[in-house]
Amino acid sequence: METKLQAIGMQVRDLDVIGDHIVGFIADDLIPPSPRAEHVPPVEAFRKLVTDHNLATAVPPFYLQLANKSGFFSTIGPEILTVFLGLDPAESDSAKHFLLDYGLWREGDLYEERTEKAERLSKPVRAWWKDATRRKQTPFATSLSEFWWTRDLAETLNDLRAALLRSDKQRAKALCPIVGEHFIHGYKPSAAVEREANFLLALGTGRMLESARIAPIEENGKLFPVIATGFSRDAVFAQLLLKTVQSNPLYRCKRSDCDKIFVRSRLNKEYCSDHCQALTKRRRQLGKPIEEIERADTSLRRN
Ligand SMILES: [Zn+2]
Repeated sequence: METKLQAIGMQVRDLDVIGDHIVGFIADDLIPPSPRAEHVPPVEAFRKLVTDHNLATAVPPFYLQLANKSGFFSTIGPEILTVFLGLDPAESDSAKHFLLDYGLWREGDLYEERTEKAERLSKPVRAWWKDATRRKQTPFATSLSEFWWTRDLAETLNDLRAALLRSDKQRAKALCPIVGEHFIHGYKPSAAVEREANFLLALGTGRMLESARIAPIEENGKLFPVIATGFSRDAVFAQLLLKTVQSNPLYRCKRSDCDKIFVRSRLNKEYCSDHCQALTKRRRQLGKPIEEIERADTSLRRN
């Protein structure tokens, strides 16, 4: 059965960076009134979900119907995965732009208290948070180190699937501990590489789909079980889940000076575009060394 997915993001604004955190506000004045409860003030209803720590449970199935391309709840397209994996940590503003385009990263970013030590708010962020609450805004703080760690994890899971598909046991064996050591205390890799890789794909992707929900959604008069997500991080891993089960991981263009990440339309396609393929062919004809013009492995990781 085909898995249906509907992802929405919540608009954020006034982003800034304080130490390890991107801080900003939820654009909650843009929340549309609920068609089910027009008398309920939308901002107060939304803030109550935040104070009750209930946002992840309520948002995806409830607000899905209110999402559109430009409103507070925006529809997220499948390109989010390509965009996310193509982000470069060296470009300091790219994480900010990602949040502006795809919305709030995860539910936990709306809460001042954090369980993970590395994500805890620093003194300056807490001071900023206090000010925001006093001004009756809905603040959030996204940990940059968690954000970039997540990008690396998504890349590893994508490449692990790519390695399995081309039966590259060496590569799969090298990638397994990267996932395993994060999720399993005292991780020891198993000798059965393929089974281990599949196990870790399920574990890593499933754990990161933190607040995805399943709901029956109507489409052309029929009801379907749909995976619904309300945060951009969940949208990334929901797309990764689809790519994994469709045996369709993402690849980096084989032209060494093109960094574009793309979806393969046919199995033998190794370049992002006809242009890159033609250029490489031309360079080869000019007699440049093959090592310089081609990558050996076109999944995302380069070594
Ligand atoms: Zn290219």
